[in-house]
Amino acid sequence: MRFAPVPDYHMHTPRCHHAIGSIRDYAAVAVQLGLSEIGMSDHSPMPNGFDAAWRMQDDELAGYLDELEQTRERFAGRLAIRRGLEADYHPGSEAYVADMIASHPWDYIIGSVHYIGDWGFDNPDNMEQWQGRDLDDAYCAYFETVAASARTGMFDIIGHPDLIKKFGHRPTPGSRRVAETMEAMLQAVKEAGAALEISSAGLRKPVGEVYPHGAMIARAAELKIPFAFGSDAHAPGEVGHAMDTCLAMLTACGVQEVAAFEQRRMRLLPITPL
Ligand code: ZN
Ligand code: FE
Ligand code: FE
Repeated sequence: MRFAPVPDYHMHTPRCHHAIGSIRDYAAVAVQLGLSEIGMSDHSPMPNGFDAAWRMQDDELAGYLDELEQTRERFAGRLAIRRGLEADYHPGSEAYVADMIASHPWDYIIGSVHYIGDWGFDNPDNMEQWQGRDLDDAYCAYFETVAASARTGMFDIIGHPDLIKKFGHRPTPGSRRVAETMEAMLQAVKEAGAALEISSAGLRKPVGEVYPHGAMIARAAELKIPFAFGSDAHAPGEVGHAMDTCLAMLTACGVQEVAAFEQRRMRLLPITPL
């Protein structure tokens, strides 16, 4: 199935040390693909140099915002470019993140969990740390952390909400504990009024699946949680990746709109089959 393009709100810049291309390059691809709106969401700084190798530093925020402003002007009238961040939820850093959010004119903030405690579970350099893990425990700890991220109320979009599956690790089929923890997470997202991200990035990872999996999409749709699309592009060529696949999964669950953001206010745009 094909659909009219919706905004792609998840893309990075070289400031995070693992992406390529200028904002202008991402925007040019978006225009070529017929998108009318995108948002940049590079990995935000963290306090005390936490995880510095994978994110911009404090003193790079101004340059990021400058580049965004210049590119917004260049593409004015052709492409709306929203100002976003992918902020990590890592307990203890809330005050720092809240201050960073309050200090600049963001259109939206994606809250993502990449850490369970000090364990960077999605980092391919840490694969040995998966060995001997109880996978149900890992899933529950992950969903509990995502729920806590939603409860902070700081985030507009909850990023790639089952990232824990990235390398293909699976919980016990039918595990009630995992299902209940996921349900509590979705209830927290619902209560926070945040959108859930549907991300094509998982299709490019060992798991080979959209984030989140179909059952979570179906349950979130039932709860009327809005969805926002993100490719999680780390290169201009990934902009809009598998958007139709993601939109088809949403419409199959009865979802007819996606979330869009401006100055941290959500509006809903129709999903239009072509
Ligand atoms: Zn990244
Ligand atoms: Fe992420
Ligand atoms: Fe990302």
